[in-house]
Amino acid sequence: MDLGLKGKSAIICAASKGLGAGCAAALAHEGVNVTICARSPEPLAARAQQIREQTGVTVTTVACDITTPEGRDEILRACPAPDILVNNAGGPPPGDFKDFSLDDWRQAVEGNMLTPIALIHATVYGMIERGFGRIVNITSASVKNPVAILELSNGARCGLTGGVATLARKVSRSNVTINALLPGMHDTDRIKQLLKSRADAQNMTIEQARQQMSADIPANRLGDADDFGAACAFLCSAQAGFITGQNLLVDGGAFPGTL
Ligand code: NAP
Repeated sequence: MDLGLKGKSAIICAASKGLGAGCAAALAHEGVNVTICARSPEPLAARAQQIREQTGVTVTTVACDITTPEGRDEILRACPAPDILVNNAGGPPPGDFKDFSLDDWRQAVEGNMLTPIALIHATVYGMIERGFGRIVNITSASVKNPVAILELSNGARCGLTGGVATLARKVSRSNVTINALLPGMHDTDRIKQLLKSRADAQNMTIEQARQQMSADIPANRLGDADDFGAACAFLCSAQAGFITGQNLLVDGGAFPGTL
């Protein structure tokens, strides 16, 4: 299926590794010229080179912290009028409500709610003028089903979800959509760390910990960056113009509810 994206431009935030990298690769395979960022320049440059070699599209890199105003300015200078924006950043740390300070909450809201909102604000009006735009916010399955140790993440990501719910409807008459992808367990570096601590705590190998985690997922496996990237590319496609304001779980069936 041709997704109708050849020659379009995209900003994909936090995309040297993991889910962001999966989205960048999937869009590049559709002929989208991508601008990607991450804080560490070397893995970012390596990922960019890999995407160029595999797809032949133009890949621009911006080594920055996307949760800072300077970082956002830099990526917008590199790609001032994107057709596609994929919002992503590292998640807030785990912990317990009693230990979180207000500054911890401010940081979580800054990184996972206000940063995407600032980038949407900077790009969505150009998309409206041009009559095409696709915005995908990478949030978390915790938006539908809160995770006990991730209260900062649960809160900030729900804030973003509610914060753009009306806008997602307002902009749709201009062929601009705003949706969220809610990852369940995907085998990225972030999950590898979790698997390692589970393996150490339960005196098992990382592979055994992976199997244990997979057994809790109806698909009986963790997702990967390609699974996630494919869902992102479809939400960005020309054909997805009638889908807006949605929160799509990509979790192998792990969410236990009907709706
Ligand atoms: P990952 O494998 O650790 O990759 C994170 C990527 O984001 C790296 O390229 C990292 O590069 C970049 N990054 C992190 N913070 C950044 C910042 N402030 N500015 C710019 N780039 C930044 O993580 P992931 O598993 O793909 O997760 C992506 C997001 O999805 C996170 O918010 C995570 O909480 C959420 N999520 C993931 C899962 C899962 O199963 N993987 C499940 C639910 C939610 P640098 O470190 O060089 O900046």
